[in-house]
Amino acid sequence: MRFGNPTLHGETAAINNCSEILTSEPYNLKGPEALKAFQDLSLYTTAEACPMCATAMRWAGFKDYVYGTSGKTLTSQGWPQLTLSSSELFEHTSSLPTETRIVPDILAAETDPLFRWQYDNSGRCPPGCRRARADDAEGSRTCIPGEESEEDLAAEVAGDVVKGAAKGASGIWSLLSVFFKVAAPVADEL
Ligand SMILES: [Zn+2]
Repeated sequence: MRFGNPTLHGETAAINNCSEILTSEPYNLKGPEALKAFQDLSLYTTAEACPMCATAMRWAGFKDYVYGTSGKTLTSQGWPQLTLSSSELFEHTSSLPTETRIVPDILAAETDPLFRWQYDNSGRCPPGCRRARADDAEGSRTCIPGEESEEDLAAEVAGDVVKGAAKGASGIWSLLSVFFKVAAPVADEL
């Protein structure tokens, strides 16, 4: 949203970053080598990918695609999402030369709370985020990077929501660190 690029979702951004890393110092892989390297990598994401990103993962040929929160849970929380599941989409990719294993629902109890407050104005954002205000460019009440003001904090509700937010925030960072932990050793072997 911030960059005005509708294809810039978390997974496509991760794939772009990965390509950049593989083809730059110190790896300096050529294009075909970088594409082959994806077959040894796993992509971890906090929620099931949209069909665009799931398709990108199949073109990349990742070994594994691991996610926490399901697409059904996202839509039940008010997130706009295309309703074609990754497993349904993957059924139509058998002519591609690679296989990608889907590993669903991993740490979903940790990741589900991450998505509960995004469209629930009574929920508190995790540390480092705040509710967008009417005068923000985003023009909505979603969570955006930044610190909440004292006024915002005073308007916040229930401690259990706060607890859930903090727990969810730790979950996303552990998942992200897992992705880099997995990606880095594989890349070192190339
Ligand atoms: Zn997507």
